[in-house]
Amino acid sequence: MKFYSTNNINNRVSLAEAIMKSLPEDNGLYMPESVPVLPSSFFENIQHYSFSEIGFEIAKHFLHPDLSLSEIKNITDDAINFPVPLVELDEQTSILELFHGPTLAFKDVGARFMSRTMALLNKNQDKKLTILVATSGDTGSAVANGFYDVDGIEVIILYPSGKVSPLQEKQLTTLGKNITALEVNGTFDDCQRMVKQSFLDNELNNYYRLSSANSINIARLIPQSFYYVDAYRQLKDKSIPFYFSVPSGNFGNLTAGLIAKKMGLPVSGFIASTNANDTIPNYLKSGSYSAQETVATISNAMDVGNPSNFARMNDFYKSHLAMSEDIIGYKYSDEQTRKMMVDVYQHKKYILDPHGAVGLLGWKEFSEGKNNIQGIVLETAHPTKFIDVVTDTLHFTPELPEALKKIEHAQKVSVLMENDFVTLKEYLLSR
Ligand SMILES: *Cc1c(COP(=O)(O)O)cnc(C)c1O
Repeated sequence: MKFYSTNNINNRVSLAEAIMKSLPEDNGLYMPESVPVLPSSFFENIQHYSFSEIGFEIAKHFLHPDLSLSEIKNITDDAINFPVPLVELDEQTSILELFHGPTLAFKDVGARFMSRTMALLNKNQDKKLTILVATSGDTGSAVANGFYDVDGIEVIILYPSGKVSPLQEKQLTTLGKNITALEVNGTFDDCQRMVKQSFLDNELNNYYRLSSANSINIARLIPQSFYYVDAYRQLKDKSIPFYFSVPSGNFGNLTAGLIAKKMGLPVSGFIASTNANDTIPNYLKSGSYSAQETVATISNAMDVGNPSNFARMNDFYKSHLAMSEDIIGYKYSDEQTRKMMVDVYQHKKYILDPHGAVGLLGWKEFSEGKNNIQGIVLETAHPTKFIDVVTDTLHFTPELPEALKKIEHAQKVSVLMENDFVTLKEYLLSR
């Protein structure tokens, strides 16, 4: 399949170029030239597929014939090696637990798929591939983990100093080997801007073979559509119209849901739930897009004032009217988020992380007074990834899963950096 840029549909590139370059020169984002519509029999027989088989059935349309079917099967079998259980919270509400991967956040799905796809596309190259990635917290660790110790590939992570949780920081800064963490004195948007500028810089592109691993990489987006279909597989009553509430920041996750809908998933609509960074809910209400300064919140992985994937959402729908027929947006304060975490713990003994709590708030607001609909709330991270907020809110400390216990006392190694591109460039050229 070919991929085009959201800034120029005539700029078409191969799968390898879209994935390895990540960002077209015209500063748009890559889009698949067509989204395959899967046969209705696939959805009717969905219970006969496993999660990784669902992944294969979707991925082959995008990756074949650039990769062989057996290579694609290897990627999906290897990358999709943990479940995404759908847990019933109340009659109308289920939680899709996306945190059972190695770094305990949904970004493992995209990162594991992308790293395995890139390693295959990279296998005949003699120049090392350098992955440059900006993270608001969870991307960096998922990507670093996905590529850890992979031959011929190194990862450089930019993260905003003091704006990721202490355990997230440990996940970013304790791997070593082919993983380097740059601690930027600024916000996630600063990190993202510095990465984007690097891709557009000729000197850096001569010195390095650069690639990105943010949600802007199409190889992250494609696999995220798998779990929307797997959630449908797990729905007990498929005859009741269902919606997804997606706690959103850079809007890669929600965009992957839109891909699943285009492929034929019979979902009724999406709820874009945000924290105070409400650029998209504002757009959905007003019809005019205006990027905002990033606001720091307790759901910090969603602190994004200018979500990149809006370009893709816009490309899908072409008009505000069409987009707002499928997506409704709501925003919530930290106070509302904490209250929801407390309510759910008190009434259901279920521990939500602050991102999932924003998702549940969106679903509750949307479904208020409506009968005969059901909601799937995406729980994007394990609550202990945000242990400070959870402890402070619920007044007890949930036990860390094994994956986090191991790194809790490991030594942090990072390179401090000011938030301007010139500093980054000098550093990169002097390594
Ligand atoms: C990255 C992240 C989000 C936001 O996802 P987007 O695809 O950027 O909208 C939400 N929750 C958690 C825990 C995350 O790590």
